Amino acid sequence: MNNHDKKIENGFSRRRFLKGSSAVIFTQFCASILPASFILSGCNATWYRMKFQNWSQNITAKNMIAVKIYDEQSAEKSIEWAVENGYKVRPMGAMHNWSPLVITKGTTSDDKVLLIDSSALNQISMIEAKKSYGIVKVGGGTHVEKLYQYLSDYRAAGASDNGYAFQNTPAPGDLTIAGVLAINGHGTGVTYDGSSESPHFNGSMSNNVLSVRGIVWDEAASAYKAKTFHRDDEDGDIYLTSLGRLLVTEVTMQVVPNYYLRCLSYTDISWKKIFHKNAENNAFTVSRILDKYGRMEVIWFPFTEKPWLKIWQNISEKPPSSTPTKGPYNYPFSDLIPKFASNIIKDILNGKPELVPSFCKLNYEISSLSLNGLFNEHNLSKTRAAHQVSNKISNDDKRILNKKINDIWGPAWHTLLYVRKTTLRVTANGYAIHVRRGEVQKILNQMVMKYEGMLEEYKQRNQYPVAGPLEIRVTGLEDPRGLKTRDGSVPKPPALSALTNSDIGGEVDTAIWIDALTLPGQPDSNQFYTEFEQWLYNTFNASETRVEWSKGWGYTNNRGAWDNESILNEKVPESMNNLQRSFQQTASIMRDYDPNNIYSNGFLDQLFN
Ligand SMILES: Cc1cc2nc3c(=O)[nH]c(=O)nc-3n(C[C@H](O)[C@H](O)[C@H](O)COP(=O)(O)OP(=O)(O)OC[C@H]3O[C@@H](n4cnc5c(N)ncnc54)[C@H](O)[C@@H]3O)c2cc1C
Repeated sequence: MNNHDKKIENGFSRRRFLKGSSAVIFTQFCASILPASFILSGCNATWYRMKFQNWSQNITAKNMIAVKIYDEQSAEKSIEWAVENGYKVRPMGAMHNWSPLVITKGTTSDDKVLLIDSSALNQISMIEAKKSYGIVKVGGGTHVEKLYQYLSDYRAAGASDNGYAFQNTPAPGDLTIAGVLAINGHGTGVTYDGSSESPHFNGSMSNNVLSVRGIVWDEAASAYKAKTFHRDDEDGDIYLTSLGRLLVTEVTMQVVPNYYLRCLSYTDISWKKIFHKNAENNAFTVSRILDKYGRMEVIWFPFTEKPWLKIWQNISEKPPSSTPTKGPYNYPFSDLIPKFASNIIKDILNGKPELVPSFCKLNYEISSLSLNGLFNEHNLSKTRAAHQVSNKISNDDKRILNKKINDIWGPAWHTLLYVRKTTLRVTANGYAIHVRRGEVQKILNQMVMKYEGMLEEYKQRNQYPVAGPLEIRVTGLEDPRGLKTRDGSVPKPPALSALTNSDIGGEVDTAIWIDALTLPGQPDSNQFYTEFEQWLYNTFNASETRVEWSKGWGYTNNRGAWDNESILNEKVPESMNNLQRSFQQTASIMRDYDPNNIYSNGFLDQLFN
């Protein structure tokens, strides 16, 4: 018997399954697959079979076993069953992740994998509500949209007058909080001139966490049990960016007083101005925008001149020209994919990559007309492609698209959420490059010139690997100094966050997030991504080149993302070796909390073991 088997044998006696009295909910299916002991134990969990399919559909596995847990006891019991039966345990949220963190491509129902559905762990409560900050407790399966709305609407004596918010968040709302934290979810935002916002919360969502509660190995109990990792505990940093290496049941997070954002959209500024190498060249260089407003995003389709540039302005009164928001997702044109566009996409996927430039120009036309409230018959008839689109869109949709939305204003979460799951199903590579704030413009120019140059080179060879936009956002790095820990100490930053600084005490303070989007299966995209990734690693310091956990990275020409052994086994660990806690130390502590290695899959094994 090896050590692993011994641990299971020692840790779980069948007799203990017979204890417990809570209500039991079982489907027909589960009665057939579960041991009688489990059924007798009584466990408040629903077992079912499901098709796992992530959002971009690059990972699909039919007929997988899943268990919906309702409380910690059912989580512990389900995990106990998994350990005893040799199953891996994979917590899942809304399945929006691109990288194989939940399950890997090729996983089948014959593999012993138990998916844990924590959607019932969705309670939210405010546990501290001060004028200057709040602390919210939230179940791991809670959708973030629900959390942001709760915070924004929160009112109580002594609390912040307008509720609470985060300083930056990922763009979609239908993600779970545990899913977002697993990959250090981020939005956009840095400190700016005259800002009254906290300089400490411009990193990722993971750095807002004050405690994580999850199920890990408990040596004394010889079982997997719920444990709270407080931020000021010795291991309080380990699971802030968890990658699903424990089951998170609940977190507490620090939030800031709510604020109001105006979001301005521009589609009439050349990329050459926005990314000009000289920061002082014009008022719309990224650097100048950041200095003035702090929050921006560029969405730039290949073969077009003018990106969609968003600038958020923190302003408490609605400017007269702004349209007030009624809720999040204010850009319906990017969520309504008409059949005509889908056909082009299909054509591209089916081998007509030469249509990419037209498709990208069409996207620019639609964005520009829609943002400016000009999506009408007259304007559409000016371009052939857009005219054809117009014929396919219903009158109701046109009414929505006719509204001018290039200047909107409302509570922060209304404009920080702007991507619905019905947006174009793209795939993306993703990296965060750490830089000094003063170098942002120079480095962005370098990146964009490389990207643009590659697009041209590929085009010369009749290759069109990139059929989606380049997205640029800029954030700060993790800064734990603003956190209200129990003992007042400054805690460690999230151990595995892409935003945890290796330049401790140095001048590096900013991250440029760069994502190049394309359609899944686009010919030559693996080659393009491999080349661009190698360029990043050759150009920037290893410790300042971070993969975006949720997206595509580690490319090879033949097999695409998450396949490059040197990146998985060397570059990624190396990029985190100069942190307060090295990658290897974190991996080792995670092993102590999961000695049976149940929270893993082939991809995570390769990364961590
Ligand atoms: C269209 C689109 C836009 C996006 N935009 C952004 C963006 O702006 N910013 C950004 O940062 N990200 C963005 N993402 C990525 C997204 O934030 C991540 O993929 C996130 O992990 C998805 O959360 P989920 O609930 O779908 O989790 P899943 O995809 O189901 O799981 C992702 C990870 O979370 C873990 N996990 C889930 N639940 C639990 C739990 N209870 N306990 C422990 N671990 C758990 C899983 O094991 C896995 O490791 C985007 C994704 C899409 C599809």
